[in-house]
Amino acid sequence: MPRLFLFLCVLALLSCTSQPSESTGAGAGTGAKSTLVIPADEASAEERAEIESALREIESVAAELSAPRDFHRLPVIVTTAENFTDHPAACVSENGEGRFILLKPSVIEQEKEERKSGRHSALLRVLLHEIGHCYFGREHETAQIQSPGYVIEIESAAGPIYYHSLDVSVMVKESLVIPTPLERYYVAELLGLTRAESLADIAAFAPLKYLPIEKPALRADKAL
Ligand SMILES: [Zn+2]
Repeated sequence: MPRLFLFLCVLALLSCTSQPSESTGAGAGTGAKSTLVIPADEASAEERAEIESALREIESVAAELSAPRDFHRLPVIVTTAENFTDHPAACVSENGEGRFILLKPSVIEQEKEERKSGRHSALLRVLLHEIGHCYFGREHETAQIQSPGYVIEIESAAGPIYYHSLDVSVMVKESLVIPTPLERYYVAELLGLTRAESLADIAAFAPLKYLPIEKPALRADKAL
């Protein structure tokens, strides 16, 4: 019997979060003087190239969706500083305004691991999530889609990926990766262009199949 569970995406326990700046002493309201000190960027040249590539990728997808956006307005800082967040990443804000996106080196390390599989991206997921906080004022949510009794199979260039459920949005904070075939969907959702209510809505962006859980089979008996 195929051990489908072995292939299911294991979601990391870590989570990135929106973290109001703890360092600001500026009062609320317009005109408040900023006291936020943006930490020095510790990214290596390679890490900086990775981040720039991911940002350009997101902007490219947005442009393809006829909704071009500039996601370079806020700096993306790689830092080991611990005083902003306990999480791997954060949108650091001040007076309710996003000031910069913080990444810890662990995010880049995870991206390197995910890239070996060719099925998921951690860096795109984390950047999209923090862009959601910083650029769109999005909060965390829990919405997921599943098909009870079935495992969802998504075809990727590196082979099939299996899920019990799919996040409706990158703002579901428990997930630290996105399946690479669904990048376009998640960008579109973030931009407010779509919002999946069923797997068929997601299938419009990437081919999906269902595999029954009770009788696992190598071949899907239902396809979207
Ligand atoms: Zn968050």
